[in-house]
Amino acid sequence: MIPFNDYHMHTPLCGHASGEPAEYARQAVAKGLREIGFSDHAPFVHMVDPGVTMSTDQLPEYYEMIEAVRDRYRKELIVKIAIEADFIPGYEDKTRAILEDYPYDYVIGSVHFIKDWGFDDPSQREKWNDHDVNAVYRDYYELLRQSARTGMFNIIAHSDLVKKFGHRPTADMSAEVDRTAQVFKEAGVAVEINTSGWRKTCQEQYPALNCLEIYAAHGIPLTFGSDAHRPEDVGADFERAVQLARDAGFQEYVLFKDRQIERVIRL
Ligand code: ZN
Ligand code: FE
Ligand code: FE
Ligand code: ZN
Repeated sequence: MIPFNDYHMHTPLCGHASGEPAEYARQAVAKGLREIGFSDHAPFVHMVDPGVTMSTDQLPEYYEMIEAVRDRYRKELIVKIAIEADFIPGYEDKTRAILEDYPYDYVIGSVHFIKDWGFDDPSQREKWNDHDVNAVYRDYYELLRQSARTGMFNIIAHSDLVKKFGHRPTADMSAEVDRTAQVFKEAGVAVEINTSGWRKTCQEQYPALNCLEIYAAHGIPLTFGSDAHRPEDVGADFERAVQLARDAGFQEYVLFKDRQIERVIRL
């Protein structure tokens, strides 16, 4: 069994993804998915990097491009329009302003930066050598909690992305994850099983099974996302993701529309 939907995928507007949105939609139909949501990287608020996100000027193009695919595939596939926005402390107002420009179905919140360090950016990978891995994990979980508390996000992305290059903590992080789950519950955010980790050095979905068990125990809503940056990755490893969700104790997952949970589906 595969899930109804894939809620995390990109477009060439971010500068590091390939394929047209229609190709992502075609792949979704071929895989048997019933719904997809595009969630390309929102314009950075703290700097400009055309290789990572679209510019503010490109937001109308983004929205219209996805609307066009939604209309074209209306008979075969439900297409939601979403966006993945970075949480950058101190820039909440600017981020909120960007997110309010269009009526997204949901917003995915991501932590890709600890202070100025893009810890998952391959070009900044050597900076891991200057950091204590346990401290990076603790800083990361603190940022995840802060991001949820802003109320700007519906889904928190890849919630242990710090492991991307295979850096694993030597200390037990379960208390950090438990505190994070409590904040997610209070804030009403969902988490995703993001299958892109299986395509990275860490060779594991985001987040790890022990984290998923904690989120399931706290009753955090769940979504599924491939984080596809090319059409062939849409719905990648989704059978495995469903099995994992069940193993972690989840009994359902959710769909979003107009920035609210639209529907709950049993696993
Ligand atoms: Zn990306
Ligand atoms: Fe991301
Ligand atoms: Fe993404
Ligand atoms: Zn992502």
